Amino acid sequence: MHIVVCIKQVPDSAQIRVHPVTNTIMRQGVPSIVNPYDLFSLEEALRLRDELGGTVTVLTMGPPTASESLRKCLTYGSDRAVLLTDRFFAGSDTLATSFALAQAIRKIGETFGAPDIVFAGKQTIDGDTAQVGPGVAKRLDLLQLTYIQKIVACDPEARTLTVERRAEGGTQTLVTRLPCLVTMLEGVNQVRRGSIHDALRAARAEIVTWSAKDAGIEDVTKCGLRGSPTVVKRVFAPAPRSEKAAAVPVSGKAAADADALIDAILARQPSLEADLTHLAAGI
Ligand code: FAD
Repeated sequence: MHIVVCIKQVPDSAQIRVHPVTNTIMRQGVPSIVNPYDLFSLEEALRLRDELGGTVTVLTMGPPTASESLRKCLTYGSDRAVLLTDRFFAGSDTLATSFALAQAIRKIGETFGAPDIVFAGKQTIDGDTAQVGPGVAKRLDLLQLTYIQKIVACDPEARTLTVERRAEGGTQTLVTRLPCLVTMLEGVNQVRRGSIHDALRAARAEIVTWSAKDAGIEDVTKCGLRGSPTVVKRVFAPAPRSEKAAAVPVSGKAAADADALIDAILARQPSLEADLTHLAAGI
């Protein structure tokens, strides 16, 4: 079995600070952790590997510092870690994120063997959209199982996976073909503590680091801000005003200055006086 687990490094707090101008996450000064949902996915992947053999690869797209979260996942027992990092990815929304991750998973398949299962968490605690897992499944044409609370059985020979899915008012038991993508709910297992052996191995492990080009992404306009329609709109501030604002001289006498200011405003917007009179009549 080859299992890929997508993990995201997220700020360790719910107080997400978003840049007032670029609308992108301001990560400086906020400690980072592995997205909690992703640890439950990782535990499920490690359990399957322990039971059936094979390897677990953890993958993240993020800044170079995201390697700390990958190394953390190695201490739990993951076999390999891949960091997808490039300035082209900055400011990605879920569309651009799923595009980049899907391409990286293709490259992982070519390099280390096609994955039988791709795991993602149900959502992240910062972006909170729950869109990336399904987006990756769609782009890789994988069957997707969402809101999964338990992996019941996996039969690599028969190429089937049986899961329990949390549904409205109950639980569904579903069987699907491999390969597939699974998004795991939180709290569905007990995340293990890594062994000393894993901790030592993690400290020395080489993290595979790929740029967009290394991952085989040729069209970088589908990445980052340029590939993110839900962010671009918020980035373009309104066009700067062409004419300069008029200066109104002040005498220092408040009442006279206020009258001068109102006269200047009404001179520029004559309809305003009629509107205000109409409004006042309606109150
Ligand atoms: P989700 O879709 O919630 O994540 C689900 C799972 O996908 C995760 O558990 C993880 O397994 C996997 N995953 C997600 N991101 C990565 C990654 N970078 N590397 C590896 N695996 C990953 N983007 C939008 O498109 N629309 C928005 O409305 C939006 N709002 C945002 C609001 C805030 C406050 C913030 C901080 C970000 C927002 N973003 C939004 C950007 C969004 O965080 C990124 O696109 C992000 O990489 C994926 O979205 P998500 O965090 O919502 O992931």
